[in-house]
Amino acid sequence: MSTIIASDERRVVDSVPHALLIGGEWRDGERGTLPVEDPSTGAVLAEVADASPADALAALDAAADAAPSWAAHPPRERGEILRRAFETIVARSDDLALLMTLEMGKPLAESHAEVLYAAEFLRWFSEEAVRIEGRYSVSPNGRGRVLTMRQPVGPCLLITPWNFPLAMGTRKAGPALAAGCTVVIKPAQQTPLSTLAFAQILQSCGLPDGVLNVITASDAAATTQPLLSDQRLRKLSFTGSTGVGRMLMSQASETLLRLSMELGGNAPFLVFEDADLDAAVEGAVLAKMRNGGEACTAANRFHVHESVAADFSERLAKRLGAMRVGRGTEPGVELGPLVDAKQRDKVAELVGDALARGAQRLTGGNPLDGPGYFYEATVLGGVQEGTRLLTEEVFGPVAPVISFQSEDEALRAANATEYGLAAYMFTADLKRALRVAEALETGMIGLNQGIVSNAAAPFGGIKQSGFGREGGREGIDEYLETKYIAVNMD
Ligand code: NAP
Repeated sequence: MSTIIASDERRVVDSVPHALLIGGEWRDGERGTLPVEDPSTGAVLAEVADASPADALAALDAAADAAPSWAAHPPRERGEILRRAFETIVARSDDLALLMTLEMGKPLAESHAEVLYAAEFLRWFSEEAVRIEGRYSVSPNGRGRVLTMRQPVGPCLLITPWNFPLAMGTRKAGPALAAGCTVVIKPAQQTPLSTLAFAQILQSCGLPDGVLNVITASDAAATTQPLLSDQRLRKLSFTGSTGVGRMLMSQASETLLRLSMELGGNAPFLVFEDADLDAAVEGAVLAKMRNGGEACTAANRFHVHESVAADFSERLAKRLGAMRVGRGTEPGVELGPLVDAKQRDKVAELVGDALARGAQRLTGGNPLDGPGYFYEATVLGGVQEGTRLLTEEVFGPVAPVISFQSEDEALRAANATEYGLAAYMFTADLKRALRVAEALETGMIGLNQGIVSNAAAPFGGIKQSGFGREGGREGIDEYLETKYIAVNMD
């Protein structure tokens, strides 16, 4: 990959509107602007519009006005708009990757992978748009008929986090638009540029005005509250922390809003004594270090059989210790900065807690000097029960290793968390793999692989990781209502 020069960076940042998209028009925000920072330098990249509650309501007005005609739009045409957006994103993947790296910090190669992953949701749901089916059946008494049809739920609010700035948006907007719903998207304030680029692309691909609206805001609670209490809004799909998810759920109870909640995780990574250790280490690098550990699916803790724990820890420490840390635009960089100072300080606090309780530093364990919010790739051995890293989501490049003696002990430890998003398991024994998979309390499991994300698969969690599924055949269901007609045949 060639060295990126600053003028390229300016070009991609300036190529995106820094405004609200409401009813097809790019507008200023009533509250002025909010800054978007490059986390690798702390420099302000751009000022984007700061929406007021009234701006947000205008976006809902636009989504509600456009809802009937978009619901009636031929499914094939809805799908073709999504398909064109897929192709456009792939064609512009270099620029979109650079934009993402600038606002979020991850290395360019990872941004590139996210851009392609994000585009896949548009391709997948462009195909699902024409497969929305009902059914016909004879009533058990033979005298009636049961007809069901599936219809778009209506205007949706989509709230997305900063860690996957493009994929979290396409994973929600793809199925919503395919189903015939109109949407208001509110991206995270740290990373609005990728969403603005996505909206611009959809516009250029022929999406009618008002079908997708974007509000960027510095006060998420104040901006979204009027939408949550407005009965024209029919659905909230939220990806973010469990704490905010709980708050939104309680607000949504007022209007009995339909919800999808993709919340926090605390993924266990299990390595059994019969695992292929080379594969387990490679899987661990991916499960831990993808996105610098800032992924809800990131392996948060490594439970390794005592007979291989030392060997595994040593090899993992060697791999992570050799990772090149730096600005994501620089060639060869494998680990970028954390998204902000708050995130870096939280990682430092959790590592400090583990060390104070007797863990050993096998590699890393320190923040790096600024500018930017860098933290070393870290492996901790001998992590003790009660350590916060075992129960809290670290959201950073830190791998705590703890050993186990038996399968039962490993399972108990894996499930000893309020979260239930993803788990990983490395074993060569198929019966054990299925036995453990059945007992793991998570929505997703990586079996002998360190990644679970796939547009064709149902992504989502259980327990305090939320509910609802994104991607796969299940993804579009979140945006459809089932209506039933009782037919009298007497
Ligand atoms: P967050 O603080 O919950 O924020 C997520 C989004 O919610 C942002 O757009 C944020 O806006 C908005 N928000 C915050 N408070 C709000 C409120 N009171 N009302 C309405 N909106 C509000 O989470 P985060 O720190 O950005 O993201 C990291 C979390 O997301 C982690 O816990 C991670 O596990 C989770 N995550 C889950 C998945 C999944 O699929 N399960 C995927 C990715 C991430 P502002 O930016 O303005 O604060």
